[in-house]
Amino acid sequence: MFYIYCPYCEEHREEEEFHPKGQAHLARPEDPDACSDEEWGDYLFFRNNPRGIHHEMWVHALGCRKFFNITRHTVTYEILETYKMGEQPTITAETEASRPAATASSTDDRVSTETKGAQGVQA
Ligand SMILES: [Zn+2]
Repeated sequence: MFYIYCPYCEEHREEEEFHPKGQAHLARPEDPDACSDEEWGDYLFFRNNPRGIHHEMWVHALGCRKFFNITRHTVTYEILETYKMGEQPTITAETEASRPAATASSTDDRVSTETKGAQGVQA
């Protein structure tokens, strides 16, 4: 059992209240009729599967029933942050790549993100 921070309820709730809904930040083509079959197929069926930072849409199904986004590390399963729909993540693959390893400032950054919903997997 572990807890996930819901940015709308503003509290950590049990994982069983949540369901993953796939990759976040997928923009529907503004004019689907103008898309080629390949472009429309890419939008409907193809998703990123990165090793590392991944942004996912989740729903608080047994709580407020609102959708929100999670930044998760696909290797460690660590949830780095949660944020509301329409907001942009503060942690991306680019920011993680540019983060200096094991410096005092990066430790301070990690502590500050924990207040916004960062958490690890706990068995
Ligand atoms: Zn909620």
